[in-house]
Amino acid sequence: MPLTDLRGIGAKRAELFAKLGIHSVGELLTFYPRAYEDWTSVTKIESMEDGGTYCVRARMGTSVSTRVLWGGSCVARAKVYDDSGKLDLVWFNNPYIQQMLEYGNDYFFFGKLTYDSKYGSQMISPSFAPVSKGAVIHPVYRTTAGLPAKSISSAMEQALERLPLNINDPIPEPILKKYGLCGLRQALCDVHFPKTREALDNARKRLITEELLVLNLGMRQLKGRSRGVSGVKIEKDYSGEFESLLPFTMTNAQKRAVADCVRDISAHGAPMNRLVQGDVGSGKTAVAASVCYTAAKNGFQAAFMAPTEILARQHFDNLSKLLENTDLRIALLTGSVKESEKKRVRESLANGEIDLVIGTHALINDKTEFRNLGLAVTDEQHRFGVAQRAKLLGKGENPHLMVMSATPIPRTLGLIIFGDLDISVIDELPPSRKPVKTVLRGTADRKKIYRFIKSEIAQGRQAFIVCPLIEEGVLDNVASAEEYAADLMLHDFSDIPVAVVHGKTKPDEKERLMADFAANKYSLLVSTTVIEVGVDVPNASVMMIENAERFGLSQLHQLRGRVGRGKFQSYCVLISDSQSPVTAERLRVMCSTNDGFKIADEDLKLRGPGDFFGERQHGLPQMSIADFADTKSLELSQKIADEIMFIYKDLRNDELRLLRAEVERLFARGGENIMN
Ligand code: ADP
Ligand code: MG
Repeated sequence: MPLTDLRGIGAKRAELFAKLGIHSVGELLTFYPRAYEDWTSVTKIESMEDGGTYCVRARMGTSVSTRVLWGGSCVARAKVYDDSGKLDLVWFNNPYIQQMLEYGNDYFFFGKLTYDSKYGSQMISPSFAPVSKGAVIHPVYRTTAGLPAKSISSAMEQALERLPLNINDPIPEPILKKYGLCGLRQALCDVHFPKTREALDNARKRLITEELLVLNLGMRQLKGRSRGVSGVKIEKDYSGEFESLLPFTMTNAQKRAVADCVRDISAHGAPMNRLVQGDVGSGKTAVAASVCYTAAKNGFQAAFMAPTEILARQHFDNLSKLLENTDLRIALLTGSVKESEKKRVRESLANGEIDLVIGTHALINDKTEFRNLGLAVTDEQHRFGVAQRAKLLGKGENPHLMVMSATPIPRTLGLIIFGDLDISVIDELPPSRKPVKTVLRGTADRKKIYRFIKSEIAQGRQAFIVCPLIEEGVLDNVASAEEYAADLMLHDFSDIPVAVVHGKTKPDEKERLMADFAANKYSLLVSTTVIEVGVDVPNASVMMIENAERFGLSQLHQLRGRVGRGKFQSYCVLISDSQSPVTAERLRVMCSTNDGFKIADEDLKLRGPGDFFGERQHGLPQMSIADFADTKSLELSQKIADEIMFIYKDLRNDELRLLRAEVERLFARGGENIMN
């Protein structure tokens, strides 16, 4: 049903809805509130704290006074009270407030208590309603310029009225009953306009469970590959031989991970499906290389896919050196490789003249073919989508899969993403490593830190500075990285070679700068966060991060992982002037531990689950209500998916018609067609 069927929505307004991704009444119904204003829980004036958002029930102790300021704007003020205390209210540029609130009457006021040095604590522009209207839970929707929140709620009310009494529920009745889930109609009504907390919780539980169930079933379709087939057969273990090529001894944790993989690929059973998880700097590359070596020595091709050019090139350079005196033929395939060279590499891959290829997304390009791909490795797996991984695997006949990540993935989510996933954890850093010393400083200390960096550089070390971000938006970042670097080059670091890398630096230029930095031609690298992933410069000993409060803990940890990779004592300096207690707590965690798992845990707690994975860094389709950090719901959906597959056998079963349609819809949104 088109949106324009609803009262108050014409073509113009429909366009605004379209900006929110809503094109039909059906899509409107699944546009769930971003938050709720709970007017059912009332706080006493005296127990409110600055910065908090509250609903108070209070009486007008004055009438509203309105004053016009010099600039022409108008300010309305009022005082209200309850039996615990008094409260000042203020509104800006709303001349109608005066007529809406009457002296002596009782109202609910909802808003944030804000402290101001001149006026003290006051609620700014609170919303309000007469107490006779009753306490309710108001939905808060994400909106867009020109579309008033009110018009979303009113469209929603109409949409719910039009909902047929007997709508078809995608979740089969017996499942709803067994798991105490409410029906779809009830859930939709209550998620938008809940009468009570309990009704809201029930509605959310049902909708979240459904969404994760749909995801779960969809992922099972994608993974159908590993059932009943057997993987490429690896007969002989060459990992010992590989280790003798390394300039260091592997840690026990590395050896264990290699052994796990070798066991998997020589088991002659289902293809390997293994996640190797290890903190930054734990030496995952060597583990992957060892398994690639074994596969290649057994006559199969191996592909090693990295998320960025820089990383792919670095892996390539390191491995080329390592394998110099062996008979393995190794090649690099990335977007920035010259066309003629790309063509040559692709030809050699297709006719089996290359044993190990390292590359970026260019590897999954349609033009890339393998003669006998036996092993696919993805580095920094959270950077790749499910479909991309599937595509790489599709380049061979049941090749083994190894994925590597520094970000710990909650077990339940891992199960959904990888299915029958096995995990090896590298829980040990190479012995020579000294923990990075981390401190928090204010911008006032900048000069001191510059001096410290210069003293490190004077001793032959190198340093990274991650620039301040001025505002959101790529352009501003670019400007800021360049301006910031220019300032450093003109003043504090005028006698030192400085490289600048940012999001808009051309790939080949970035390549050159990074390579030169790694070769110590530059002592200082100023950048936006493009250095975040994987880059290895063991000689670097200082990482200075401006606006540290802007980053998630896991991201800061990744950044910090760029130093402390060699034998030198390294330092991470977080710069922040933030006054927020939550920020202070987060940054304090960074200063107190180097343990990536602990940090991921804290990140989850402090930032709230929604932020944990950043912008879709897990490669899963966008969820509209579910949350990947919600372990309980993930587990429930997993259980229900198992049960559904047990009862109905196949998603093509007619009783699952509606559920199947939901699966198709969810994955179509993620740009992936998974049913064929
Ligand atoms: P990550 O797990 O973050 O991908 P890398 O594989 O890039 O870590 O390894 C980080 C650095 O540690 C590299 O310079 C690598 O050569 C070195 N390294 C790896 N394993 C060992 C080891 N067992 N002993 C000493 N150095 C090692
Ligand atoms: Mg790495």
